Amino acid sequence: MMPVLYFAPENIEKFRALLQTAKRAVVVTHHNPDGDAIGTSLALTQVLKALGIDTSVIVPNPFPEFLHWMNGVKDILIYKHGHTRPKQLLSEADLLFCVDLNALSRMDALGKFISALPVPRVMIDHHLQPELKDFTIAFSDPGACSSAETFYHLMKDLGLLPRLNITAAEAIYTGMMTDTNGFRNNCSRPEVFYIIAELLQYGIDKDKIYNAVYNSYSYNRMRLLGYALEKMVVLPEYRTAYIALTKEEIASFHFQPGDTEGFVNYPLHIKDIVLSVFLSENQENIRLSFRSRGQFSVNEFARKHFEGGGHLNAAGGISRLTVTETIAKFIQSIEPYKDELSAV
Ligand code: MN
Repeated sequence: MMPVLYFAPENIEKFRALLQTAKRAVVVTHHNPDGDAIGTSLALTQVLKALGIDTSVIVPNPFPEFLHWMNGVKDILIYKHGHTRPKQLLSEADLLFCVDLNALSRMDALGKFISALPVPRVMIDHHLQPELKDFTIAFSDPGACSSAETFYHLMKDLGLLPRLNITAAEAIYTGMMTDTNGFRNNCSRPEVFYIIAELLQYGIDKDKIYNAVYNSYSYNRMRLLGYALEKMVVLPEYRTAYIALTKEEIASFHFQPGDTEGFVNYPLHIKDIVLSVFLSENQENIRLSFRSRGQFSVNEFARKHFEGGGHLNAAGGISRLTVTETIAKFIQSIEPYKDELSAV
């Protein structure tokens, strides 16, 4: 595991200086924003506004319905070709925050637009192997369960915890909860639970948050999940299972953003399965989600074979082949890992 290098005192001071002069900030997140991306962005917005900095959040594409209850989501803008408002806000900003992403390439067209802007870029993240050259300052802690956790530590180091309010506390909790699959995975560091204890002091209702996120699926989403589980293929010799959905299959269940969120976790509920892959086709390409147990690094696997990356046990990737070709490529790609997978 990479050490925490980026909370160095000189980085903290450099950041403090940027905060002192900033007037208009924009916060951006990765493509397909999740609970951590949205939660961290909203918490950061609360703090920046408390410091007198005018702040907007812009995301590359729509985010799931199960996050719509969050305070502040109504003001989030979606970056779309032809829409002038996000571009205008970005061009007027004097400080940019890139949240829950380790490279500008994780934002598609929004990343391209940002890369041409002469504005300081601050990363707040927890993904492995950050592209440091893309950022003015990076607060990256790959040992953190979520960017929300990184953000909390950063606020602590800056002495800004008193600026948090209940909205920010709820948003941080949501980021931590969703990135750990409800505090099941990737949260062995004791800090996580100390932070939760602190967040509860702000008066957040953790059961309300849990229900809002996990018990709010649509009927169509449940039917799509049933269909996906029926289609799941198990490869016992590789201790692997995958689910692949074509864009026609997804559309036939009246797909809404976020409907397939979490599908990748289901195959890991099978005894002895240590690698799970979910492939979903969209208009442009195929997105792959990877989950693993133990030391099998899906970050390395996704980087090597599917132009992606992420964390040791959770990563994403992309394929520009057909669904059938992608499955074939995937099976071919795991062949060399057969022994490693059976030893997990
Ligand atoms: Mn995250």
